[in-house]
Order: sequence, then structure tokens, then C-alpha cells
Amino acid sequence: MKHFPVFLAVEGRRIVLSGGGDAALAKLRLLLKTEAHLTVFAPSPAPEITGWAAEGRLTLHRRAMEPGDALCAVLFYAADEDEAEDARTSAIARADGALTNIVDNLADSQFITPAIVDRDPVTVAIGTEGAAPVLARAIKADLEARLPATLGPLARIGKAFRRMAETLPMGRARRDFWADYYFTAGPRAMDRGGEDAVQTMLDGLLRRHHSAAERPGHVAFVGAGPGDPELLTLKARKALDTADVVIHDRLVTPEILELARREATLIDAGKEGFGPSMTQDDINRLITEHAAQGAQVVRLKGGDPTVFGRLDEEIDAVDAAGIGWHIVPGVTAASASVAAIGQSLTQRRRNASVRFLTGHDMAGFADHDWSALARPGEVAAIYMGKKSARFIQGRLIMHGADRNTPVTVVENASRPDQRILGTTLDRLPQDLNEAAVTGPALTFYGLAPRATQVELSALEQELA
Ligand code: SAH
Repeated sequence: MKHFPVFLAVEGRRIVLSGGGDAALAKLRLLLKTEAHLTVFAPSPAPEITGWAAEGRLTLHRRAMEPGDALCAVLFYAADEDEAEDARTSAIARADGALTNIVDNLADSQFITPAIVDRDPVTVAIGTEGAAPVLARAIKADLEARLPATLGPLARIGKAFRRMAETLPMGRARRDFWADYYFTAGPRAMDRGGEDAVQTMLDGLLRRHHSAAERPGHVAFVGAGPGDPELLTLKARKALDTADVVIHDRLVTPEILELARREATLIDAGKEGFGPSMTQDDINRLITEHAAQGAQVVRLKGGDPTVFGRLDEEIDAVDAAGIGWHIVPGVTAASASVAAIGQSLTQRRRNASVRFLTGHDMAGFADHDWSALARPGEVAAIYMGKKSARFIQGRLIMHGADRNTPVTVVENASRPDQRILGTTLDRLPQDLNEAAVTGPALTFYGLAPRATQVELSALEQELA
């Protein structure tokens, strides 16, 4: 770092500038935002400068600079756009004790002026040490778009409210209050009724955060559905909106995580990455520790949390810690998958019951009542059935199932990359292998895609 960024106190101090043309104007427009006393030396100043002088916003001397003109100045700008004159004026200013900048002359300048995003009292200064002005401008444009225009007034009002906010316990409660103020409640009030509305909103906001701070921690076991954010329940949305901590598994899509409250901490409990994935004990501990500290925890699980979600182990842990909890159901993979193939899970005269079964459990391939399943018309939704396809096929055929029983695999149900594979019990392992199914997939035993959709699935397979 060849230049160290600092914020210089200029209120009531002198800033001197020499020059009256375009370069001077550009700098003066910036400097006029400050509360410094501006003095300009220019034998022939641009009309804007004489205008500002007439308004009393700066002091104008219609002459060239002389020794002593920059005495007591904190900063000096040489902006005559003339190499010899800039060298002369900056030498004077330096002798007078001011820090000097020569416009467009990085090498001879003692300081440089950054690109500025102004949300006074919030200012962002961007510098590239002269290396990439284009980059500085791009970053500035990006920040200008991102930071609400109301941030400045909000910060000013917020600063005056700091003492009141200190009645909240330090740490999370206070942070939450300010985050709410700056990013949600504040901008909303400002839109509604300007600064007055912000002032009147503040007391209510503080009261709300006081009662939130006294609220004990809680765990919501929330179903995230099969992946499409539109298949979230309104309750799931609400839980995500108010969560302090979201602990999710691998099945939860990024689009859904996007919906979590901006200040919420997101924790991926299903990460496999380089190390081993988190154990169930680790997850239980994570949930209870956050809730015990008073956090509103959302334990977000793919599909419905009550279906092959190891929910009971987590509830037991939360119960043992004396923490309150509730369940928000979600659309399970079987529901989303059966919708994708245009069928229903049960049908009069075909099947009056449907089984949800898992291909494997903790002990390996899971055992089921195969002879009951092998009877004609039975329907089962098989979760985690990819690796166990051959095992399931073998058991069913051994117990007398018809080899031509329809089987349908739905991969990535409800997601943009959804695929449907229509096959039979006989061909299941082989077709599954050939289709190279890599996403989460649900296998329907006893269901074929509805005839009008068969073509679509064939087409999809072709495209895939
Ligand atoms: N609680 C989840 C199931 C967790 S077990 C639910 O209710 O859906 C994980 C299995 O669910 C996966 O192996 C797969 O069989 C199934 N699954 C989850 N999401 C799926 C999706 N979008 N499409 C197809 N199958 C899915």
C-alpha cells in the first residue's frame, strides 16, 4: 500500500485551490460537500466559481497565488492544468505547510483524492493508487446502486438514537436492532414518510427488539420442499424471514437459502467437502447451542422434515435442552415427483394405500415386507433408492412381483434440471445406470408416467 486511506477532519479548516478551469471545477464540486473553508486563487475563474463565491460558499481571489496564501491550510490543490504553474503553486503551498495535490500528477502529489460514494455521514472512499481509474469508477457505480440513497439520513438519525439503543443488551440484540433499522424498518419508514416517519418509528422498533431480546431461543423444524422455492409454505417463508440461524442440509437449494433473513447465519450441516460430513451429534449440538443462546433457529430440511429426516433425534436433543420447538411441514419428494409424472399416489381400484420406503438405512439396504409389495397394484415411493435399485429389484422378483411392473425414477423433482425416467422393474438397474442419475432421485414402484406425459419424458431424455 503506497497510499494509506484516512478520513481527515476538515470542519472549519482551510482548503486552498489554485485554478479556475475544468479541473478546478471538478475538485471544487467535491470539496463543496465538506464543511471546510474553501479559498480559490484564479485570475480568470469559470462562471460557476464566481457564482459559488457570490453565494458565500467559497472565498475567491482573482489573482495568481503568492507565498503565504496557503498558510494554515490543511490541504492544497494545484489545478491550473499547467505544469509550470502547478509546480510553482504547490511549492508555495508546501512551504506554507499544507499537504499538496497536483491534479493528474500522481508522482508529485503528497495525497490523492479517492473516488467517493457519498451517503454523508457514511462515506466510502475508493482508491487504486492511480492504477485503474476505470476500476474505481466501476466499483463506485456498483456501490452507488447498492447503497440506499436514504442511508445518509438514516445514519444521522441513528447516531442520535445510539444512547437509547444501548438499553438493549450488548451483542446480538443490539446488532439485530441496527440491522433491522438500517436495512428493513428504516428504509421502509423513510419511503413512507421521510425523516419524520423514521423518528416516530424508532421508539416502537426499540420496544419490539426489547421484547425480542427477552424471548427465549426456539427451534423450528422446517420443510424446504423439493427445491422449487415456490413450493415453500407461507409458514416456511415466515420462519426464514425471522430466523437468526438457519441450519440446512444438502438437499436445500441455493434459491431457497436466498430467502433467509439477510442477517441470519447460514450453516451447512450437510457439507461433505474435504473432511467427513457432520455427525448427527454435531448437528444436534449445533442446534441446541444456538437456541440456548436465545437464537430463533430454523432447522431447514429438504422435502418434509418428518420423512426420512432423522427428525426425532434432533427433537430429543432440543427437548433434553429444555428448548421449545415446532414443526413446519413441507412438500415431500414423493408429492413433487408424482405431480411431475401427472399421476396420483393413490387411485380407486388400483391402490388404496401407498408406502414410503427407503432404499437403505443405517444398517445398509433396508428390509421391507417384500411379499406384500409384490402383489399387483401396489405403489411405493422409494427414497434414497439409487444404490439399492438392484437389491430392491431382486427382492421383489424373488417374492413374485411381475417383471413388467412399471417403475419411474424422477430426478431433481421440481427443479429446472428435473428428469423423468420411465422403466420397468426388469430394466430398472440397467436403465438407471445408463441414465447416469446424479441428483436426488425418487423411484416409484408401480407407477408409470401418465400416457400423455410419456412423450415429454422421452423428449427430456433425449435432450439430457
Ligand atoms: N425429507 C425429504 C427426504 C429426505 S431423504 C423429503 O421429504 O423429501 C433424501 C431422499 O429424498 C433423496 O435420496 C431422494 O430420494 C429424495 N429427494 C429429495 N429431494 C428430491 C427431489 N427434488 N427430487 C427427487 N427426489 C428427491
